[in-house]
Amino acid sequence: MKNDIHPEYFQTTIKCACGNVVEVGSTKKDIRVEICSKCHPFFTGKQKLIDTAGRIERFRRKYEKYQKSQSNA
Ligand SMILES: [Zn+2]
Repeated sequence: MKNDIHPEYFQTTIKCACGNVVEVGSTKKDIRVEICSKCHPFFTGKQKLIDTAGRIERFRRKYEKYQKSQSNA
């Protein structure tokens, strides 16, 4: 049996582009990520809401046009 098949395990930090730092145990040192749970739109919810509002607004305008064309006919 080999004893050295397991890679070394460090206490390291994951640094995100948004500035968030997460301490984890990993086989890699100084991990850098573009997006994390703090800045991803799915988790922040804010960007998602703005996007959704824009879609609703566009739908309303389309619907208004449709209603006007119906009443004119
Ligand atoms: Zn982040």
